[in-house]
Amino acid sequence: MLTNDQLAEWDRDNFFHPSTHLANHARGDTPSRIITGGEGVYIEDRDGKRLLDAFAGLYCVNVGYGRQEIAEAIAEQAKELAYYHAYVGHGTEASITLAKMILDRAPDHMSKVYFGMSGSDANETNIKLVWYYNNILGRPQKKKIISRWRGYHGSGLMTGSLTGLELFHKKFDLPLSQVIHTEAPYYLHRPDADMSERAFSNWCAERLEELILTEGPDTIAAFIGEPVLGTGGIVPPPEGYWAAIQAVLQKYDILLIADEVVTGFGRLGSMFGSTHYRLKPDIITIAKGLTSAYAPLSGSIVSEKMWSVLEQGTDENGPIGHGWTYSAHPIGAAAGIANLQLIDKLDLVTNAGTNGAYLNAEMHKALGDHPNVAEIRGEGMLCAVEFARDPANRSFFEASRGIGAKIATALLAEGVIARAMPQGDILGFAPPLCLTREEADSIVEATRRAVGSTD
Ligand code: PLP
Repeated sequence: MLTNDQLAEWDRDNFFHPSTHLANHARGDTPSRIITGGEGVYIEDRDGKRLLDAFAGLYCVNVGYGRQEIAEAIAEQAKELAYYHAYVGHGTEASITLAKMILDRAPDHMSKVYFGMSGSDANETNIKLVWYYNNILGRPQKKKIISRWRGYHGSGLMTGSLTGLELFHKKFDLPLSQVIHTEAPYYLHRPDADMSERAFSNWCAERLEELILTEGPDTIAAFIGEPVLGTGGIVPPPEGYWAAIQAVLQKYDILLIADEVVTGFGRLGSMFGSTHYRLKPDIITIAKGLTSAYAPLSGSIVSEKMWSVLEQGTDENGPIGHGWTYSAHPIGAAAGIANLQLIDKLDLVTNAGTNGAYLNAEMHKALGDHPNVAEIRGEGMLCAVEFARDPANRSFFEASRGIGAKIATALLAEGVIARAMPQGDILGFAPPLCLTREEADSIVEATRRAVGSTD
């Protein structure tokens, strides 16, 4: 068996890690952490250290680690048929069954699922479908996509452009010109301290309308947004936000893509964020929680309104020229079926609502009065603590202080993994949906100690 030192050396010599400070890693400043196992909300590393994973990997291991039902479903599928493609009408029992299970859970007006492998490729698919749709309808100029600052939609060329975080644009020559950004629904950072939540939501909708009118409504194809801003800071929408935004989109015949890569399949305490906030999207992006990351799989759930146009379009234009080798991969589909069955059996959507509310409430009790805590916010099994130099005057720390990262490091020493969100001094929590109250208490207690240790 390889020693830890040997593995760390191979890691540094050979492995190009995503979203990593490469020079720090090469110098050994970011140590190689090698994960060997997991059970429930805990993972274990090669040194035998057990950590409570309060971010569920990258908010994806929704049912928790070590679920034998999913592992067995994957193994059985691999033994029976590891792969067949989904081009020109091919499928497997697993992929066809999973498509039905997704539609059974999705809002009624949704019609079909196009499968991919990751949230990023699903959003790439979405934009191509929107463009195809508008071309079929004879309006080739209606192509621009509006996204929001602080939105996260992936890191491909188009999806990295849609993402509204500087880190994902810097030195990549992004965003591409078809993408424009509008205001983030980030009430804490509102332009005027006296604005009510509703007034701020209306202001966001007015700014959106101004942007549409400046660009020309005939040039705008779609608006993409996460029901709750995720990587941009875990920010639930202010009161009235989605109703105000949807009214503007309808007025100018602009499609809505709800990116539910994080919120889909229960994280907010509802099966979808779209139902939670009464959205009527034309496409819903799904990934992470679809398989709880036991296998890579994503999807674009397309509405009947779009589907009927796309379907007709192929009569004129032939087969739709868009496909991935691994679309609807049977092993991913088998994982997805077992995962959705487990979510139902354990009633994890309800648990995400109730124990997520408990986690948020306890975090408030523990840290609400701390002089540098500007806000504790969340929805379902999502929670964020934002720090500021002087919260009463909304004076925030310099980004370079990296207080969120310092606290996340202190928290790790306490045996809890949280995420320092990439922009701002924000500590994020998104535990598996199976989190118990005792585990929530452990997270809160460790966070209180970690915050205290960095005072
Ligand atoms: N959309 C949202 C809302 C996400 O949070 C993410 C990833 O975190 C993505 C898309 C991209 O998914 P992936 O990393 O699987 O490409």
